[in-house]
Amino acid sequence: MDKKTTLFEMAQAQLDEAAGILKLDPGIHAILREPMKEFHVSIPVRMDNGQTKVFKGFRVQYNNARGPCKGGIRFHPDETVDVVKALAAWMTWKCATVDIPLGGGKGGVICNPKEMSIGELERLSRGYIDMIWEYIGPNRDIPAPDVYTNPQIMGWMMDEYSKLTGYYSPGVITGKPIAVGGSLGRGDATARGGVYTIMEAAKHLNIDLSKATAAIQGYGNAGSYAAILLHDMPGSKIIAVSDSKGGIYNKQGLDPHQVLQHKMETGSVINFPKADNISNAELLELSVEILCPAGLETVLTEINAPRIKARIVAELANGPTTPAADEILYQNGVFGIPDFLCNAGGVTVSYFEWVQSLNRYYWEEDEVHHRLSKIMTKAFQTVLAESLKRKINMRLAAYIVAVARVAEAMKLRGWA
Ligand code: GLU
Repeated sequence: MDKKTTLFEMAQAQLDEAAGILKLDPGIHAILREPMKEFHVSIPVRMDNGQTKVFKGFRVQYNNARGPCKGGIRFHPDETVDVVKALAAWMTWKCATVDIPLGGGKGGVICNPKEMSIGELERLSRGYIDMIWEYIGPNRDIPAPDVYTNPQIMGWMMDEYSKLTGYYSPGVITGKPIAVGGSLGRGDATARGGVYTIMEAAKHLNIDLSKATAAIQGYGNAGSYAAILLHDMPGSKIIAVSDSKGGIYNKQGLDPHQVLQHKMETGSVINFPKADNISNAELLELSVEILCPAGLETVLTEINAPRIKARIVAELANGPTTPAADEILYQNGVFGIPDFLCNAGGVTVSYFEWVQSLNRYYWEEDEVHHRLSKIMTKAFQTVLAESLKRKINMRLAAYIVAVARVAEAMKLRGWA
């Protein structure tokens, strides 16, 4: 991505390409290029030192043609509304790709949760809901966790919304703790869904995952579970993992459970006793079958793309690959599983959670896994068929599938 292109412009350019191929109605295309609604809020929070600090927050409702808006809330010091808009667009395509009856949205608050106390985080979480509660709801817009937000934060937000509306409302948010209406299987759902798509990709490419090596960039919810599930299910060897502080490498393989324990004790994966420290940049260029970017945006660029040696790049992060890098990877025969397909397991189980919360009837974990596997496998096969038929990369194929579905709903609703 050249420096002047923003993440949202990148999302718009990707849409434009799909719209061209689909010969999309110009009115529908114009609607889909912009979010339907964008909220900017200022959240006053009483800090532990007694002073009030004002945090900026956003909620973007991108499109609700196929159902209420859906998407996570990020707490990050570098958050911008441009990034939230791009992520809200991708949520729209994500829900359509896996064919669940939800639209796309995203939220963000500019803050550094690593420097805040539990009490400050709780007051910020409640304050954010105080500002947006009239615009969200179980039939309007349903938030969830994302970067640096977690089930506890969802619990506070659900509680705040329920207090403001005057009734218990677990359907307003997903990714909640189990005891307050969460779903079994939501915790590792993003990674599990991604591993199901990796298994399909490996079948397609004749790769034996039990003999494959993998490198995981990012060791948060998605990355750590991806390492654990790839290690425990097909039995792949995890030779490197990283987080924001750096990476670790052992060509004999790492035990991802022990690495997680180490991260919980020390705050990072680095300095793990049975490995050498490496940089994030080095990790991305390792010779592995599977590379999983599972952290933040734009880590694969035209600079490092020519040096990527992985056979499969499974995008558990949102937006890790720039369009220029995409083209280079495709030309070099790297098989990419695009973000809004690869990481759609999270929102798919969020959809299950929403259904369960609305019905007050909860499923067994096996049922969640089984339904997730069916949805992810079908979505992967649909996108793969489109990519083979049109001889285009998997990202563009996923766009074609998703945009066509959203456009059909808009047309049938008479929007253009
Ligand atoms: N934040 C996750 C994502 O980007 C999950 C969203 C959700 O569950 O609504 O897909």
